[in-house]
Amino acid sequence: MHPELLTRLGLASADDALFILPSRYEDRTRVTPIGALLPGQRAVIEGEVQLSEVIFRRRRALLVRLSDGTGFLNLRFFYFSRAQAEGLARGTRFRCFGEVRRGPLGLEIVHPEYRRLAAQPEPLEAALTPIYPLTEGVTQGRVRQLVDRALGKLAASGATDLLPRRVVESLQLPTLREALRFMHHPPVGTSLEELAAGTHPAQRRLAFEELLAHQLSLQLLKRTIQSDPAAPLADAAGLAPRFIASLPFPLTGAQARVLAEVDADLTLARPMVRLIQGDVGCGKTVVAAAAAARAIGSGGQAALMAPTELLAEQHFRSLSGWFKPLGVTVALLTGSLPARTRRSALEATASGEVQLVIGTHALFQEGVQFARLRLAIVDEQHRFGVQQRLQLKEKGRHEDLVPHQLIMTATPIPRTLAMTAHADLDVSVIDELPPGRTPVRTVVIAEEKRASVVARIHAACQAGRQAYWVCPLIDESEELRCQAAEETAATLAAALPEVRVDIVHGRMTSKEKERAMQAFKAGKTQLLVATTVIEVGVDVPNASLMVIENAERMGLAQLHQLRGRVGRGAQESSCVLLYRGPLSPMARARLATIRDSNDGFEIARRDLELRGPGELMGTRQTGLADLRVADLIRDADLLPQVRDTAEELLRENAACIGPLKQRWIGGAEAYGRVG
Ligand code: ADP
Ligand code: MG
Repeated sequence: MHPELLTRLGLASADDALFILPSRYEDRTRVTPIGALLPGQRAVIEGEVQLSEVIFRRRRALLVRLSDGTGFLNLRFFYFSRAQAEGLARGTRFRCFGEVRRGPLGLEIVHPEYRRLAAQPEPLEAALTPIYPLTEGVTQGRVRQLVDRALGKLAASGATDLLPRRVVESLQLPTLREALRFMHHPPVGTSLEELAAGTHPAQRRLAFEELLAHQLSLQLLKRTIQSDPAAPLADAAGLAPRFIASLPFPLTGAQARVLAEVDADLTLARPMVRLIQGDVGCGKTVVAAAAAARAIGSGGQAALMAPTELLAEQHFRSLSGWFKPLGVTVALLTGSLPARTRRSALEATASGEVQLVIGTHALFQEGVQFARLRLAIVDEQHRFGVQQRLQLKEKGRHEDLVPHQLIMTATPIPRTLAMTAHADLDVSVIDELPPGRTPVRTVVIAEEKRASVVARIHAACQAGRQAYWVCPLIDESEELRCQAAEETAATLAAALPEVRVDIVHGRMTSKEKERAMQAFKAGKTQLLVATTVIEVGVDVPNASLMVIENAERMGLAQLHQLRGRVGRGAQESSCVLLYRGPLSPMARARLATIRDSNDGFEIARRDLELRGPGELMGTRQTGLADLRVADLIRDADLLPQVRDTAEELLRENAACIGPLKQRWIGGAEAYGRVG
């Protein structure tokens, strides 16, 4: 076997080729009569050439008209040699294959594969044709060859059933080898629809194993993180209760419950690895701050990492406000600090003089030294990968002790999925909002009625309220996005001369952004035009109106996050989703979901139904978005047994874990060196 080819495909051995699974199939086992063809179908056709001519319409093309007695089909070639054109002469008989589409002269196939038919009947394929996902520079033919060679040696291969016998029997599914043989060459008569639906027992058999491999991988990660001791945090100084007593509000029931779960973890000598899930605005920061107080009250340091500088600065401000009166030293550490400030913050962190450090995720990628880091808090986990969590452990290691980890996420995912996607974490859920919030009223409005929306902003600002205007996602480029925001701000400022308009976008320096946010928070500006930099965490209670342009192009989780910036005060807030029509039925359903629900969990559930888990934030980092056969929604019924089996294997049969992971996750180090 070609070792270089194996490497290119990310395979450790030739046997691993068995686990490259087709992404779809083609049916070349039968001939379809031309009269029965439908546009979009990929089919084998046989017929005789009626007409063959080179035409010039915009582009030179060879047009061949084929007939089989049930109808006519055109074959269109844009690239062809003279010999080819001559070979396709009137009266010759061909078998061809390709995708049928509607052309200017009726049904046609552009550049079909074709072969001249001999006098005697020629056999068709005996099984469905697998189409493999391609890796750059490796053709279908090469992959097929590799797979077929491995299949030829299947009986002697390492592709053995690693699942406990009892499990395979209780699932009533085929053996691994049967399943593999089927998947690579589904026999004649297998329905393409069933395969596309992914419900064939062979697919379920492999899906179970793939989900199991991921589950094991995540659970091993948790074990790796917990394999070193952490300091138990007793809070002898009683800082946490003092912190809670100093807050201007009591904790909600849900906050108190989750904090108790966190506290129980922190008093153990084993590092906590806990995720706090909670909808936007439920008050995760306070719970994290109380945990930090416990770490500091135990003589340690705590660090809080945010995904953006804007958010780090905001956390710095609110946590300083809470902690300074209690005599705690808080420092901000971001990339854009002036060199001298940064240096002294770094020194104070290394000496232990600073007790609470707030920064961006970069905090752990750079050479930041802590004197005695006891707790690392990560805000908004979906941008924080598994690899980084392993780094966190190593960077925070001090005298053999590793820090506790607390992760906060505002992109909730449904419970069944959470148990699988977050198998490397213990999960707590804050399922209650602080009292006194009025739900945000959301309306969906067509772009043509923009003027009425501008009038609405005018009225809100006249009444002493503030508003956000979130700019369109016109382009992937940050540059163009910022430009669009500037243009929108200028237009709005001209249309609303009495309103103080300001802007915040990703191209501004951290200082400029900070200044704009401060001015808005202090009420000095009334309308803040922004790009999606304000997506996470920004907290200005007096802002009660938000307009989001091109809402039809944004993800539901993102829209919900953005909308979470309003509805933070006591007055009724509203959110206007501006869209550019015409809307597809899917876009319509998605906007309706956001309009009709304020509940992040419900929105996540609908999003999952509408789009599938690959798009859900939070699952992306776990590798679950790249599953080969399994599908978290379709195969959800398998998950409880996958979890039980994973636990059983970890307990009783650890030897098969390595090979299982090798098969399905391979050498890809997405999960770090674990297990
Ligand atoms: P998120 O969970 O989205 O990160 P935050 O932690 O930013 O939410 O909290 C949102 C707002 O709610 C903040 O202004 C915070 O001070 C306030 N808050 C948090 N907990 C409570 C509570 N128990 N009662 C009243 N207000 C609270
Ligand atoms: Mg937050």
